Amino acid sequence: MSDNQLRLVWVYPDLLSTYGDQGNVLVVERRARQRGLDVARLDVRSDQPVPTSGDIYLIGGGEDRPQRLAAERLRRDGGLVKAVENGAIVFAVCAGYQILGHEFINDLGQREPGLGLLDVVSVRGEGERCVGDVLADIDPQLNLPMLTGFENHQGVTHLGPTARPFARVRIGKGNGTGDGTEGAYNDTVFGTYMHGPVMARNPLIADMLLKLALDVNALPPVDDRWYEALRNERIAAAQQSA
Ligand code: GLN
Repeated sequence: MSDNQLRLVWVYPDLLSTYGDQGNVLVVERRARQRGLDVARLDVRSDQPVPTSGDIYLIGGGEDRPQRLAAERLRRDGGLVKAVENGAIVFAVCAGYQILGHEFINDLGQREPGLGLLDVVSVRGEGERCVGDVLADIDPQLNLPMLTGFENHQGVTHLGPTARPFARVRIGKGNGTGDGTEGAYNDTVFGTYMHGPVMARNPLIADMLLKLALDVNALPPVDDRWYEALRNERIAAAQQSA
């Protein structure tokens, strides 16, 4: 971070913003401001270059065709890959997560290259679409309480050796491989299948990204009563649906 200003980049809201994932941007922005940070938020449409000097990049989910278009443009643009080389933090959901990997199956049934920022490969699941509430335990190294989310995807994601599972599901399908893993991460790059938006249900994920960006171990506490009420409601809903 430079000049005490957090540069928050929302990648391709015109293509990748289904299922309320815009909420992640709002939550990170608000929690940064609550800690007195000056936030420069940049919404980068798919006909614009992705800046290479952002601190945190957020990417949402998307339908199959917009997902292919987004992958093509992000590959051609190259800005997101350069940003990660510069140490940027990326948090991507569902279609965005798949795009961060080596490849996924596109809307034409073909293998579409991703950005190779995560050591994962996504294929089209043969079974039923994975839809429903998720409860998951985050990787112990990330040290956060149980996560709640909502998944809706056909893709199944296999992790390679340099990707760590982001979480392990108690309820839900996660990566869909049957091994209980959910999402993946490596250093500052995170991918998950959890919508929700996931940051509204789990605001400590937003704080985790802010701590990484600020290079601090703790942040001043904020009033989390609203988030706690939402979390408890969604946790109960997931338990009832299981
Ligand atoms: N099209 C992808 C899939 O179904 C991602 C869907 C999404 O982003 N919700 O796997």
